Amino acid sequence: MSAPHSSHVPILSANSYGSSYLPVGRVKTFRYEPSMMSADSGVDDRVGNSPHPNIIELRKIINDLTSNSQELLTEKLFLENEVNQLKKRASRLDDEIRILKEPPFIVGFIQDIVESEAIVRSSNGTIFQVSINPRIDHELLRPGARVSLNQDTLAIIEVLNDGWDPLVSTSEIVEKPKTTFDDIGGMDEEILSIRQAIELPLTKPDAFEKMGLTPPKGVLLTGPPGTGKTMLAKAIANSTSATFLGLVGSELAQKYIGEGGRLVRELFDLAKEKAPAIIFIDEIDSIGSKRLDSSTSGDREVQRTLMQLLSEMDGFESTQNVKIIAATNRPELLDKALLRPGRFDRIIEIGLPDSSARNKILKILTQDMPLNKSINLKQIANKTDGFSGAELKALVMEAGMKAISEGQELVSDSDFSLALSTIEDNRKDPLRNNHEGLYG
Ligand code: ATP
Repeated sequence: MSAPHSSHVPILSANSYGSSYLPVGRVKTFRYEPSMMSADSGVDDRVGNSPHPNIIELRKIINDLTSNSQELLTEKLFLENEVNQLKKRASRLDDEIRILKEPPFIVGFIQDIVESEAIVRSSNGTIFQVSINPRIDHELLRPGARVSLNQDTLAIIEVLNDGWDPLVSTSEIVEKPKTTFDDIGGMDEEILSIRQAIELPLTKPDAFEKMGLTPPKGVLLTGPPGTGKTMLAKAIANSTSATFLGLVGSELAQKYIGEGGRLVRELFDLAKEKAPAIIFIDEIDSIGSKRLDSSTSGDREVQRTLMQLLSEMDGFESTQNVKIIAATNRPELLDKALLRPGRFDRIIEIGLPDSSARNKILKILTQDMPLNKSINLKQIANKTDGFSGAELKALVMEAGMKAISEGQELVSDSDFSLALSTIEDNRKDPLRNNHEGLYG
């Protein structure tokens, strides 16, 4: 081993590369002193048989430096690994930023496929012929499929056919309605009629086929408010295992062009997918009113929704296990097109209950109520001429509340008399206290 030529003192320091990652104090600093070697040549490395003390010292330094370089190597590997991980993370974050900066896609619907291109309707109703992302499975590209479109070229980027509009998807009443035919009083004929038109074709489709009969597609329930139309639809849903999709007509009357029509289309698509299914549209007059020469765009949109409803009703076979029940308080407003054969084939008129029907309704409504023995429901039924089922319910509720407020255990005749006069007052001045709204 030779002595260094320079006379300055070299400092061998492991943290001389200046990494901020290096844990402080892990690497030792060594100082080489020329006095460790002999002044002239440094060849004088033995004292007798044992090595010169300077040689021992230098070997020790070499050993320490070797282990130090090992530590530095491990440290280097560790840091390289860390750098790689940080690079990966940075590139993931770059991707995320790029996705967040991307312009939004437009949602549209395929109307037709023409060779390698598609006819699509964008959400604002305009129709375009556009190209298709070649990576999309052609099986999925069917008319009616919901797709995302590039903002500039309107090319189809992706098929989104699994999603339903929230209004349509929430129309599905997952839990079966609890109403049964036994809960409905005084409507035996109407119950029979709706069971023939809706329940039988769903439960015994073969019987219709054998008879050469085409089962009705839909039933229209008409009658004054609170006469049990909704109850009837719920009881039918309960008696069959069909999926029940319930909507109020006004929910389908949308503001934007094409929206209402799309909802109707999606409603029928969902029903076909979930078949056997019953679609119940309450207050159908809000989209099914007679077509007038209307000038406002809102009216025109409602008419487009009606046209879509008509075309959907025409577009499926009555054997397809999808039935439609619609209800209205104002049948005189309905467009005649809705009542043509093949649409609402059966109209069930539900009138105000007569005395015997009122008696039956009162019996049902009071079956769980502790009544004083002296109460004569038949007499109450006679006194409530012109009352709807909903008003009878309000009467029973009022009598029960009077009994509770008096601290009685049984509902008495006088509770019913007082309740009757309250309800009659409300009937004269419905705005004073809307019981139908409260209890209906
Ligand atoms: P609307 O036209 O206002 O929607 P509706 O004809 O659909 O009214 P329902 O909502 O079915 O009437 O009835 C309201 C309430 O009146 C029911 O919850 C029920 O308690 C009572 N009701 C009406 N008719 C009957 C009936 N025939 N038997 C028993 N209860 C009845």
